[in-house]
Amino acid sequence: MIDALTSPHPIINRPAPRAAKPVTLYDLTLDELEARVREAGQPAYRARQVYDWAYTKLARDYEAMTNLPATLRAELGETLPLAAMTPVRELVTDDGQTFKTLYRTFDGQLVETVLMLYPERATVCVSCQVGCAVGCAFCATGLGGLTRNLTAGEMVVQAVDAARRSHELGRRLTNLVMMGMGEPLQNYAATMRFIGIIHDPRGLNLGARRITVSTSGIVPKIDALATEPYQLNLAVSLHAPNDELRSRLVPINRRWPVAELLAACDRYIAATGRRISFEYALMKGINDGEGTARELATLLRGRLCHVNLIPLNPVDVLPYERPDPTGIERFAATLQTAGIPTTVRYSRGVEIAAACGQLRAQHEQASA
Ligand code: SAH
Ligand code: SF4
Repeated sequence: MIDALTSPHPIINRPAPRAAKPVTLYDLTLDELEARVREAGQPAYRARQVYDWAYTKLARDYEAMTNLPATLRAELGETLPLAAMTPVRELVTDDGQTFKTLYRTFDGQLVETVLMLYPERATVCVSCQVGCAVGCAFCATGLGGLTRNLTAGEMVVQAVDAARRSHELGRRLTNLVMMGMGEPLQNYAATMRFIGIIHDPRGLNLGARRITVSTSGIVPKIDALATEPYQLNLAVSLHAPNDELRSRLVPINRRWPVAELLAACDRYIAATGRRISFEYALMKGINDGEGTARELATLLRGRLCHVNLIPLNPVDVLPYERPDPTGIERFAATLQTAGIPTTVRYSRGVEIAAACGQLRAQHEQASA
């Protein structure tokens, strides 16, 4: 078996150039924008107008903000760019329901975002890092390690663009999941700033209950999350019911093993009253056995939780495979029979490499 930990993929392991990160409009809370506008000698209500243009009318630039004085537009245009990254490619699935955008950041990094349309909701899957330090054995994002954290503004761009795309399609962006590239709880401060901005009712106004943070299990940060004022959804990427297997698949398990992780989950549930989702990527012959399903059911029994089984999206340079449909159904049935609420979730957009980190890897290989 290839060990993704000791064999990082050479193609996508690029160091970040040391460029200062620009502060953009999307990095600022409304309070901060008001302070900035006052510094420019303008009344604070001008900031609320800018915010409204940016997040309600989804303006692409200051020029579009026609009720602002031209001097303020010019000043902001020079000192506070809207965004620090631009889309370089968009892919759409054949059924027109899944959109993947590849961005290039100001310092040349590649970041990807996926928008998924369902009959009842439109969900954007946001990236929070370029690469990831956790290095899960089956994940394309983790292959080259962590290049750098994204700023809050770089995350906001992804959400705003998805809101605009949804709007163009006659839809409203309703949900947001932190399930793109990167580990949100290892970029905690920027992620919380991002959530504060998109949650603001005077802006994008995404309800906290419609925002899901997914983590590989950074225990102290799960405890921190429980103290945040938002009623966020928490998804924990479990993938294995015991330390022996989980440490192989999710290396952070060596630092915070299963028992510690579940204790943190219990504290989170007790503090927030919120149900936790456990994510479980099913891999053929690795974590999909009948005995493993029973062990998982025993581990989770009695908890306020839900299991999402994700049939693996195979990554071409990694040796893991998706089980066949009967194996997936059998695993789900074992959990359900044991009383664990379980859903099988097939990833969207496999043909456009929509799984975590896959499009970036493809793009970099093609341009290497
Ligand atoms: N770093 C966070 C969030 C981003 S990954 C985390 O790990 O939770 C979002 C989800 O996709 C995680 O559950 C992750 O384990 C899963 N995932 C990663 N690569 C996958 C693949 N190739 N197939 C299926 N799921 C995958
Ligand atoms: Fe990082 Fe999540 Fe991928 Fe693991 S699954 S390497 S934590 S992005």
